[in-house]
Amino acid sequence: MSFKTDIEIAREAKKRPIQEIGAKLGIGSDDLLPYGHDKAKVSQDFINSVQGNKNGKLILVTAINPTPAGEGKTTTTVGLGDGLCAIGKKAAICIREASLGPNFGMKGGAAGGGYAQVVPMEEMNLHFTGDFHAITSAHNLLSAMIDNHIYWGNELEIDERRVSWRRVLDMNDRALRDTVTSLGGVANGFPRQTGFDITVASEVMAILCLATDLEDLQKRLGDMIVAYRRDRSPIYARDIKADGAMTVLLKDAMQPNIVQTLENNPAFVHGGPFANIAHGCNSVIATTTALKIADYVVTEAGFGADLGAEKFMNIKCRKAGLAPDAVVLVATIRAMKMNGGVAKADLGAENVDAVNEGCANLGRHIGNLKQFGVPVVVAINHFVSDTDAEVQAVKDYVEGQGSEAILCQHWEKGSEGTKELATRVAEIADAGVSQFAPLYKDELSLFEKIERVATSIYRADEVLADKKIRDQLRQWEEAGYGHLPVCMAKTQYSFSTDPNLRGAPTGHSVPVREVRLSAGAGFVVVICGEIMTMPGLPRHPAAENIRINEEGLVEGLF
Ligand code: ADP
Ligand code: MG
Repeated sequence: MSFKTDIEIAREAKKRPIQEIGAKLGIGSDDLLPYGHDKAKVSQDFINSVQGNKNGKLILVTAINPTPAGEGKTTTTVGLGDGLCAIGKKAAICIREASLGPNFGMKGGAAGGGYAQVVPMEEMNLHFTGDFHAITSAHNLLSAMIDNHIYWGNELEIDERRVSWRRVLDMNDRALRDTVTSLGGVANGFPRQTGFDITVASEVMAILCLATDLEDLQKRLGDMIVAYRRDRSPIYARDIKADGAMTVLLKDAMQPNIVQTLENNPAFVHGGPFANIAHGCNSVIATTTALKIADYVVTEAGFGADLGAEKFMNIKCRKAGLAPDAVVLVATIRAMKMNGGVAKADLGAENVDAVNEGCANLGRHIGNLKQFGVPVVVAINHFVSDTDAEVQAVKDYVEGQGSEAILCQHWEKGSEGTKELATRVAEIADAGVSQFAPLYKDELSLFEKIERVATSIYRADEVLADKKIRDQLRQWEEAGYGHLPVCMAKTQYSFSTDPNLRGAPTGHSVPVREVRLSAGAGFVVVICGEIMTMPGLPRHPAAENIRINEEGLVEGLF
């Protein structure tokens, strides 16, 4: 059997004008700011005008620990949104924008796959409405203003060795990880060592995704710590007087983008912070707006549920006052097998024992999500190579956990493949059984928050941290940052900090290597293991196969 590629399917989409898509949610053409015929931003005036509406139901899509086999969270988010619309519900999807780095590298795009995609797929994966370029510009404006301040006499007494604000670029480029700037003589300033991160790792991205409006955006930008003095006192972006101009650069980017699925249903695509040093969810403004105008909003969190859903609940929901009504946990037979010890090359063969073995990973995620008081449904994202016996093994296992698993075939069939899931999810959300609460209270100390996540979610025995790290956390508490949530950065491949420990490991400890304060975004990043803020390209990047064909169409995106 041969299957069409994602881009081939996307190209065949029968798109409707964006005004028609907006109208499905009651957004008039005056409130849609079109970027071409099939993309638009939703005006701030419209957003203000719907604030009095009642909220619809919020459904989070998350997944088991990812494996190189691929799980399909975005694909399932889109498929479920289409499924809800197909059974007659007024639903909207909220997902993240794509970064050029992974797109030209290894991972590919972020528009879903098969017959569950948002379109225009090419544009969404390329420049889209320019939001990421605006973020890059705002970030680098601040970088330039910091060096300029030092150049013109350094009135703030910035310690040049302690400038923590780097530069960003939306590209995987390892050559820029560590750089020296201002070489070339007196006129170019004072040489210092710095580097570049990828745009999605910028604190500006995290802020755009958490801010409620332009005023809140500017306040948070001003709160960012960019450098320290010799006495270690912090210098804020506000001290550099960059917050106003940065807000101006971000004004349009703050408005959520709306596009459509292959089945012409509305999808908000807005923001895209890293899921390790940031919280990995689409913007608060898109989600809260969608909730005001749709009865069901399906959204996604990055990585597996131990990272993505945990941060969605403990950071995004806490800060935005959101509460999920149901959670869909995506699992694939292939990933179950990998968690059960099968190598990637052997995934094609039926192996019910390995599936059963790997289910331990799924079971732990189910248990973890229930700790947040939310009902969980497992979506088995069907791959054509899965066998009936393997699917049944997962269903039986999940039932044994007091939950239910539903087979979904949206990748092959679109909404036809998710009607059962959609029906069940709508029932659960409508039943109002969710009793959502974040895992920890604001009042807990920062270290206790780390311990809470490590023991309850990762099921580790202990957290290991040097005195230096504990002292740093205590200092931040004294400086008034103790109420912040923690943003855990660890490998996405395991519950532990060792990417090779699949399944449901126990008896491990969580070593904290470093902590960073994102004072504007409003969380403390806790780094456990190697964290890459500027990825590199693989030996053969996807970019090698991306080109414009004879008909003038883009080839090679996936
Ligand atoms: P995630 O959001 O979890 O990173 P995506 O939804 O972006 O994953 O899917 C990753 C890739 O896997 C996409 O290229 C998509 O086309 C593919 N994929 C997803 N589900 C299936 C499936 N059921 N069968 C085959 N390929 C799939
Ligand atoms: Mg995704």
